[in-house]
Amino acid sequence: MTREAETVSLVGAGLNGPLLALGLVQRGFRVQVFEKRPDMRRVPMSAGRSINLALSTRGIHALTKAGLWDKMREIVIPMKGRMMHSAKSELTFQPYGKDESEVINSISRAELNIALMIAAEGQGVKISFQQRCTGMDLRSGTLQLRGERTGEERTLDPGVTIGCDGSASAIRGEMLKLTRFNFSQQYLDYGYKELTIPARANGEHALETNALHIWPRGNYMLIALPNVDGTFACILFLPFEGPDSFAQLTTHSAVAEFFRSRFPDAFPFMPDLADNFFANPTGAMVTIKCSPWHMEGRTLLLGDAAHAIVPFFGQGINCGFEDCTCILELLDRHGADWARVFREFEQARKINADAIADLAVENFVEMRDRVADPRFLFRKKVELALEAKYPQLFVPKYAMVTFHRIPYATALRRGQVQDRMLTELCDRIERIEDVDWDKAGRLILSELTPLELAS
Ligand SMILES: Cc1cc2nc3c(=O)[nH]c(=O)nc-3n(C[C@H](O)[C@H](O)[C@H](O)COP(=O)(O)OP(=O)(O)OC[C@H]3O[C@@H](n4cnc5c(N)ncnc54)[C@H](O)[C@@H]3O)c2cc1C
Repeated sequence: MTREAETVSLVGAGLNGPLLALGLVQRGFRVQVFEKRPDMRRVPMSAGRSINLALSTRGIHALTKAGLWDKMREIVIPMKGRMMHSAKSELTFQPYGKDESEVINSISRAELNIALMIAAEGQGVKISFQQRCTGMDLRSGTLQLRGERTGEERTLDPGVTIGCDGSASAIRGEMLKLTRFNFSQQYLDYGYKELTIPARANGEHALETNALHIWPRGNYMLIALPNVDGTFACILFLPFEGPDSFAQLTTHSAVAEFFRSRFPDAFPFMPDLADNFFANPTGAMVTIKCSPWHMEGRTLLLGDAAHAIVPFFGQGINCGFEDCTCILELLDRHGADWARVFREFEQARKINADAIADLAVENFVEMRDRVADPRFLFRKKVELALEAKYPQLFVPKYAMVTFHRIPYATALRRGQVQDRMLTELCDRIERIEDVDWDKAGRLILSELTPLELAS
């Protein structure tokens, strides 16, 4: 095997593409990336599907391995918990973790993308912009590209190809034409709209900086994540149809009235609300599951191309970066035995991608509805108390997903067991002093095995 001579072509310079490219080039491969969009460092443009992202342990681990986290931490804002805004503008703060080390990090999607591209190019990755992959011959492995500016079509032998081309992947589109390719896509009846809360005149944030703000309203919600420039990136999640829905918000006055009445303490901070609302598209949210993710050691899907999930656990890119960690570790173990690496990659990741897809859908109900429920807040308190008493055994589901690298499938399974325990322990009581700790101990010791918590 002549690793140095081997070319790996990635389709997509979103978030996963450049991070994977960097890891591959660091291991001696020749890496080229084809991206359909212009270079965002030269052309001002929307950075893609969300303005900022919550980065947590799995993503940070991958960035640390790539030698990038120390630089990145300068451009993140730690969010210590959820700040809930009630319809009467009352605030309730709910910490995410057991202490201040357990935070999630708000980072600009564009800044992250640019930093990754610079790092990859700095180590020799060649990124070709405005090169759209229009197809691939999966048998011969040839890739078809079209220059977005010139219209020029070309076919090339890409070596190994990895589709990092997101939820509408062109490479996956080719795999779909194969017999026995499994594919499912499930859209939510909800859409999302990105909005902005500008900085105050003095440049400061208009709301508490170190929190993820949520306006939970049962069937819909608004969230806001802080940016380093003093703004907040907001996302409104709302049904497409029905009484409170995007279908109703068709005029400037309808939008203003909806925000004034439903989010009264956010509305005054959104002077350009209606203009923003109509300038920005309404996005759809989809869960995509498919298999196989690879073909004959020549072609692989990774990140959203293999497993798009809805954004309610803030794990899409954390999961994608964990994909990168996994495949790079397999390459370190097996060398460029691509068929084996791809097979073991899918074996390791598919079950976990499916689990986080399900957890993410489940978490939507929690965010838009349950976080406002006093019973839910009480259960959270009990969860934290159980974690303090049994740190190796009882780790809250949110923490397993967000602050550890426990496999998502394990988090899903243990989370279900723990949910049942919490129901049993919290039923009919309202004070933490009334928890039956002996019973809690018996349940935990009989049903949960110790966790490997190194992160
Ligand atoms: C509203 C919203 C909020 C989110 N919030 C979070 C969060 O807080 N935390 C989190 O971890 N995740 C979050 N996510 C998920 C996260 O954005 C995705 O998981 C992540 O962007 C996937 O990275 P990717 O590289 O696989 O795909 P993308 O980032 O979508 O990149 C794909 C790239 O491929 C390019 N491309 C596509 N087709 C072609 C083609 N045919 N030829 C060439 N290039 C092509 C695209 O232009 C793009 O640059 C959120 C998603 C949404 C929608």
